[in-house]
Amino acid sequence: MPARTGEQFLEGIRGDTRELWLGSDRVEDVTTHPFLAGGARAIASVFDAQHKYADDCLMPDPETGEPINVSHMIPRSLDDLLRRRRGLERIAATTVGMMGRTPDYMNVTFAGFAGRSNDWVGLDGANARGAENLVRFQKRLARDDLSLTHTLVHPTVNRSKEMEILGNPVPMHKVGETKDSIIVSGARILATLAPYADELAVYPGFPLMEDGTEDYALSFSIPMSTPGLIFLCRDSTLTPQSTPFDRPMSTRFDEQDAFVIFDEVEVPKDLVFIDCNREVYNSVMAISWWPNIMQQTTVRALTKLEFAYALASRMAEAVGDKSDITTDMLGELACYVEMTRNAIVASEQLCRDYGDGVVFPDDRALHPMRSLLTDWIPRALEIIMLIGSHNLLATPSRAMLDDERLRPLIDVYLATANDEGAEGRSALFRLAWDFVGSGLAGRTELYERFYLGSRARNRKLMHLSAKEVAGVRMTSADEIRARGAQLLDGILAVST
Ligand SMILES: Cc1cc2nc3c(=O)[nH]c(=O)nc-3n(C[C@H](O)[C@H](O)[C@H](O)COP(=O)(O)OP(=O)(O)OC[C@H]3O[C@@H](n4cnc5c(N)ncnc54)[C@H](O)[C@@H]3O)c2cc1C
Repeated sequence: MPARTGEQFLEGIRGDTRELWLGSDRVEDVTTHPFLAGGARAIASVFDAQHKYADDCLMPDPETGEPINVSHMIPRSLDDLLRRRRGLERIAATTVGMMGRTPDYMNVTFAGFAGRSNDWVGLDGANARGAENLVRFQKRLARDDLSLTHTLVHPTVNRSKEMEILGNPVPMHKVGETKDSIIVSGARILATLAPYADELAVYPGFPLMEDGTEDYALSFSIPMSTPGLIFLCRDSTLTPQSTPFDRPMSTRFDEQDAFVIFDEVEVPKDLVFIDCNREVYNSVMAISWWPNIMQQTTVRALTKLEFAYALASRMAEAVGDKSDITTDMLGELACYVEMTRNAIVASEQLCRDYGDGVVFPDDRALHPMRSLLTDWIPRALEIIMLIGSHNLLATPSRAMLDDERLRPLIDVYLATANDEGAEGRSALFRLAWDFVGSGLAGRTELYERFYLGSRARNRKLMHLSAKEVAGVRMTSADEIRARGAQLLDGILAVST
């Protein structure tokens, strides 16, 4: 099947048997559930966008010639990366960067894995079947135009013992095997997009350091309705009264997050990419994953920062705020926009061959963004809150604006410094509140702080990461230190 439309996507998830819990409900149909239907429509609009902007978003499948999304491309040149960026920008714009896990996130991930599928073969070809399954899956992902959710991380039970996996029943692991399947039990976090995914992908997050933890070294992708898979969603950010005017973000862009329990789930061996091979599990994320995913997610972050800058500027205009402090903060926000763009452009222009003929963005430009964006985006939200102040809450609802008695009063007392008017002002500041202050805003701030691991974890990685992985040069502090060391030695030579 070529690239799907929104309606085809909705048809695929409509009323299937996935075990998805939200509040007190076991959800029957995510496409009609009052708290989930808006998100389903948003993801459908992502599928529609690829047809609307086909020149940017679609490319011919290299084998069948049928149109597939460019996020499935295995890049082999700078032109490929620039082509992919155009498609990623279109998709990010569909949700103004609010949905972090639109399907392109996983598409780019698996394109990276398939581009360096030799990394999955393992020592002496021990995981050759898993690597073959992975390559076949990546083609199916592209051709069936699936939407994937994923879980990488073990749930937290006792942080002081988080590296002690052996014998721990909580992290998902293999508990049995039949001729054609493996059986897995345990739990993983955190399946963002769970209501709107066709399949759940499991792949490594953190390495397994302990000997004997092979049963925990698993990777696969299975349909969401596989028996024994249980998804516990967090509370919705909506109330039954929420209207698109009153909650313009929450009614559209809540991608949901779910805790996943695997209760003796049977995974067909043809869908398994790693079956108890710790050597492969601990190495496959090192090269292909993050230079690729960082292009996708930094494009998404740039879109969100551009949106934030426009929103903050429009708010200031609406209330005639030309103060130095506001101008300073708007300038600060514009700096984050341009620095984020610089990182994307530099990573593409300095792209390089990572082996096996794949050309990925240069990781040196993108690595720092993993920790910097966890500061910059929350700061952008804070700037909007500081510029908005009480105006974020002086926002008559749709019902108040429609009331005959209230409307003339609102038009007078909630006018604007420009010609936006009371209704435009309410719409603008409600949008801002839903972006920085509502339940959805709190969730998306948490997302930005943690979705690629915490800031502390990423800074540590920046300082300690290896210079070379399997013969491929990677970002490392050694390189930075080597350049700085010449300067340091020069000064020390003079001063001692
Ligand atoms: C909204 C949201 C959506 C998510 N969606 C997904 C998803 O779709 N799929 C998925 O697999 N995962 C998802 N995740 C989970 C995400 O992968 C993890 O939250 C992430 O890996 C961070 O792990 P952690 O929460 O254990 O935090 P950690 O990185 O362990 O950090 C926890 C705390 O410890 C501190 N800390 C960590 N390391 C250090 C250190 N070296 N020194 C000092 N302090 C330190 C941090 O600052 C932080 O306060 C999501 C998370 C969130 C919040």
